Amino acid sequence: MGILPDEKSTMDDGGRKKLSAMEKILKKEFGLDGKYRLSMYAMILMFLIISIFFYVKLKSKIESVVLEEAQRNITNISELNADAVYREISNRQILLKAVSDNVAASHIEDVDEIIDKMLLYVNNYNFYNMGVMTPDGMLHTTSGKVVDITLQDSPYKDALNGQPMISESFMPLDGGDKNVNLMSTPVYIGRKLKYIITATYYSYDLAENMNTSALHDQGYNYLLNSQGDMAIYPKAGEDKEYLDLMRHINKNMNISPSQGKTIDFEYNGDLYYAHFEDLHINDWCLMTCYKQETVFQGFHAILSSVFQCMGFLWIQIVWSVAFIILLSIRFQEKTHKIVFYDDLLKEKNAEYMRIYFQHIPEDKMEQKAFIALDVDKFKEFNFIHGNESGDRLLKYISRTFHKVLPKDEIFRYSADLFVAMVDGKNKEEVENKIKSLLARIVEDIEKNKIQPFDISIGIRMLKKGDGIRTVHSDALIAKKTVKGNHVQKYAFYDEQMRRERIEFMEMESDFHRALKYDEFQVYYQPKYDMRTEKVVGAEALVRWVKEDGTMISPGAFIPCFEKNRQIVMLDEMMIEKVCHQMKEMKEEGIEVLPVSVNLSRVHLKYPGILKKIEAVLEETGVNPSNLSFEITESALYEDSEPLKKVIDRLHKLGCKVNMDDYGMGVSGPNSLISNEFDVIKMDKSFIDGIGEKKAESVIRSTICLSKELGMTILAEGVEEKSQADTLMKWGCHLAQGFYYSKPVPESRYRNLLIENEG
Ligand code: C2E
Ligand code: MG
Ligand code: MG
Repeated sequence: MGILPDEKSTMDDGGRKKLSAMEKILKKEFGLDGKYRLSMYAMILMFLIISIFFYVKLKSKIESVVLEEAQRNITNISELNADAVYREISNRQILLKAVSDNVAASHIEDVDEIIDKMLLYVNNYNFYNMGVMTPDGMLHTTSGKVVDITLQDSPYKDALNGQPMISESFMPLDGGDKNVNLMSTPVYIGRKLKYIITATYYSYDLAENMNTSALHDQGYNYLLNSQGDMAIYPKAGEDKEYLDLMRHINKNMNISPSQGKTIDFEYNGDLYYAHFEDLHINDWCLMTCYKQETVFQGFHAILSSVFQCMGFLWIQIVWSVAFIILLSIRFQEKTHKIVFYDDLLKEKNAEYMRIYFQHIPEDKMEQKAFIALDVDKFKEFNFIHGNESGDRLLKYISRTFHKVLPKDEIFRYSADLFVAMVDGKNKEEVENKIKSLLARIVEDIEKNKIQPFDISIGIRMLKKGDGIRTVHSDALIAKKTVKGNHVQKYAFYDEQMRRERIEFMEMESDFHRALKYDEFQVYYQPKYDMRTEKVVGAEALVRWVKEDGTMISPGAFIPCFEKNRQIVMLDEMMIEKVCHQMKEMKEEGIEVLPVSVNLSRVHLKYPGILKKIEAVLEETGVNPSNLSFEITESALYEDSEPLKKVIDRLHKLGCKVNMDDYGMGVSGPNSLISNEFDVIKMDKSFIDGIGEKKAESVIRSTICLSKELGMTILAEGVEEKSQADTLMKWGCHLAQGFYYSKPVPESRYRNLLIENEG
């Protein structure tokens, strides 16, 4: 026989939805809800936006710095190049001036002689050729040609005006195929223009002075006139790139090249900067232009490293943040499991229940019941069947609850105590649910699916404004009222229960003080032989006489002391007192009669009192035959074995045993036969039946049976003479009742005994 193996919960969709709603509440409580995640995502998003913002800001800052630097750079390059070209032209002009001065100073008249001298300079200064021109336009060149320049259209004509000059590029007059530039210096003798010294040189030689390497082959240097035409050709013939470029600039920009400033423009899909630098020769300026890309090449490299660094940093941070979030989520989820779930059953625990309760909507409160449920004698169950079986039993309870009431919630509160929240508009609905749960358990026990066990259930219907502590304690109080009850397994809480509970608690706490201050006193109710009306003995009955003199009857406190087992001490005290009082009476010479003391059925389970009885008898020297014990008929409902043992041991001590309250319960004559009682005390309810036919026949047959079995029979609760007469007629001669005497204090009982002797 064992407990059913684990089965999957048969929770339906409604139940699951409810649970997931609960999970949400818990996650919120634990900071794991959507809000939490949302704020995490918002944090990452914010971080991303800030990163982009910084990147854009940084990029534009670097860009503007680089641009400024680039513009400074282009201006510098342009100035340097312009300076180089200017110096080259100036040097040659100085040379021509020197030649001219020399000619003027030495009064050389012969043109050939001048040409001869010039040949030297042509080679040394890398001129294409030099020449001497007379004011009438006849040009003699170092290449041996004599040309009348007035017959052709050439820059030479400009030289005739007697001013030093430099021309723009042109094709040499002697048929050379590379552009040249012409420089001339007049020779004045006296105030008269005598000659004009000319020199031509290759345009590209001059253009080479412009340092294009500074532009990383990504740009151009051109010498332009104020119309934007090329003044010095860098290569032979027309430069196509230049023409295209100039066409573009002219077409798209309203700018005069000589304005001396920097512009930017797009050309052939590339972005360019162009700077115009005044050359201070003629109306010429130097245009330096180059691709922006060249400038930004370095910048892009820096930017891409910055970007890579930032990207790497960003990934690192996002990864770290994500890792921390994941870790904290996992940690919190784990903690959540530990905090809100029971480890053994994987069932929700008390903490979960507390939060669940707090989240019940106010309007749903009156449609629910709070239930406390535990296993009777769970400790003993564990002790007898082992802890593993105990664990399986708890699992069975939680599983069965989910099966039978899938829409309701159960929580493991502690050890074997479960609490549950059950939906139900009224007591009836809740009761039906509880009944179906109990029926399922009984069914499983009958089918031998589980070890037999009992549970007690306390139910508290919820009201608006209820607090968890109150409903919890109310349900526990209700549960207590059915604890150990084999018939009634559940109870609904009511206010009377709480009042009783409070009284119980007060009594419980007063018990030791009452013992200490001797507030428990022995009263004796004499037993009479009705025939002689003489006292033949007495029953010792406890009375609680409080400090203020109020007397409490045992009916008010015995049930409480039986529950908390303080009755053990109380009964021991009674036996002690009775024996000591009998000893004193004997010492005073009073004839001592047998006294019966009540023994609670609690002693059947804790038979330690027997040793106490033995010790007291020995200590006081009371004759055991003068001490008898009363055990109520209801003790027969319990296991009969311990009762038999107790009776047997009392007999061995020499004491008699009375069956108290016979007829009050449901046990029939069998109980008389199967147990070794010496005296049968017929209950008052029996005696009250005298006058009714059925009751009378039962009394008569009981009297007969007890006689047959050799037992003494005594009638309790005899209040009237007629009752006494009837009982005597039927053969019952012993009685105890108000007709003869109420329970009296010890002093009064002594007097009764003394009177009795007489
Ligand atoms: P019990 O043992 O059956 O005691 C008889 C009870 O019936 C006593 O009530 C007594 O006062 C009452 N009684 C006797 N004759 C009459 C009568 O003619 N009319 C009426 N109405 N009542 C009568 P008491 O003293 O209140 O005790 C109640 C019960 O408390 C006892 O019933 C007994 O079960 C229990 N009890 C009393 N003292 C002790 C004790 O020291 N130890 C234990 N374990 N139980 C005790
Ligand atoms: Mg009694
Ligand atoms: Mg009785």
